[in-house]
Amino acid sequence: MGLTGLEIFKQLPKKNCKECGQPTCLAFAMQLAAGKASLDACPYVSDAAREALDSASAPPIALIKIGAGEKALELGNETVLFRHEKRFEHPTAVTIQVSDNEDVKAKVEKINKLVFELVGQIHQVSMVAVANDSGDASKFADAVKTAQENTAYPLLLISSDVAAIEAALEVAGANKPVVYAADENNYEAMVNAAKKYDAPLVVKGNDLESLAALVEKVAALGYKNLILDSGARETSKVLQDQTQIRRQALKLFRPFGYPTIAFANNADPIVESLNASAFTAKYAGIVVVNSAEPQHILPILTLRLNVYTDPQKPIAVESKVYEILNPGPDAPVLITTNFSLSYFCVAGDTEGARQPAYIVTVDTDGISVLTAWAAGKFTPETIADTVKNLGVMDKVNHKKIIIPGGVAVLSGKTAELTGLEVIVGPGESAGLPSFFKKQWNQ
Ligand code: SF4
Repeated sequence: MGLTGLEIFKQLPKKNCKECGQPTCLAFAMQLAAGKASLDACPYVSDAAREALDSASAPPIALIKIGAGEKALELGNETVLFRHEKRFEHPTAVTIQVSDNEDVKAKVEKINKLVFELVGQIHQVSMVAVANDSGDASKFADAVKTAQENTAYPLLLISSDVAAIEAALEVAGANKPVVYAADENNYEAMVNAAKKYDAPLVVKGNDLESLAALVEKVAALGYKNLILDSGARETSKVLQDQTQIRRQALKLFRPFGYPTIAFANNADPIVESLNASAFTAKYAGIVVVNSAEPQHILPILTLRLNVYTDPQKPIAVESKVYEILNPGPDAPVLITTNFSLSYFCVAGDTEGARQPAYIVTVDTDGISVLTAWAAGKFTPETIADTVKNLGVMDKVNHKKIIIPGGVAVLSGKTAELTGLEVIVGPGESAGLPSFFKKQWNQ
């Protein structure tokens, strides 16, 4: 995506003075293109060339920072259209909207309680939006103050009234909320308000064309801490716009080189949840909903987890001894890898069989049993070390461990290294209930 050496060379002073440490300007350009040198090493680059090179070498989608403290988040820096090409960098910020006409404290407290455990990880929403439905600037500022006092989530301030945004920013500006929105009519004043606090500003168009034109006007005012709203609200149009913006941004069309926001709000919470899921899949940086009910939020967060998981980095659980159903000293000791799916399958089928057990997860960098075996990470040595280091055999009154059926070939050497009886379990965890019945509890 970056510039080629020759493109950079055209912008250099061509003095060949060697002060940058390179024999020629061309050699220096090649180093820059490879990311191995900094433009600062050449004292003769003109300001115009520096600006051109800086903006040309900027990432296709800007990195935007939102909020302060432990729940601060980042959006943007995306480099691909499809996850399998590399990965998606920053998960969609799922945002729940609160009206300044409702009991803000009660709804924010409800939002705070939306905490879900999925594949051993905690998942939550990302932001709280406060909407100025009352049309009253001081009521809006009060609502923002209440929201800020009752949640650690970053805020999204929604009002087209610049005075209301200014009042809200006086309350919350230091915590870098997102300002929504600069449009054709108010953009100069909105830019000034957001700039004062370096708060990310949403630029809202009526369609893609007007959006691009407005972003250029805003950028000309010297503000690039931006998020984009194409103005579309109909589901299929939002998806089209989101996809176009991402495509164009990756082709380095600079007005679209920012994260996006999509509003999924719908009177029917099921429709809202579906819309939000669609926008999370394609390519919203922020998605806004009204419902704070767990049954409407869980599907969105589950989909977000799936879409934003790095395909090159499996989800891992901690390497440790997991205790299933309060096991006693006669409970079986099951060995598996710390690939989360391996662990959850073994744990689920053990629990389903109502069999108290110890599950030991060997650290295989989160890869599954057979792959880890092929990669030399699930071996008699790693199994023996893990069993010893975690002290699992101190918890039981027997000397048996059970290894997955797929790696039966490891049993002899593992027995030799551990001094334990190594029982070969079923090839699939679904076979555990009958295995326990026939081979453990007979
Ligand atoms: Fe060229 Fe600048 Fe290096 Fe001199 S310092 S050789 S002008 S790139």
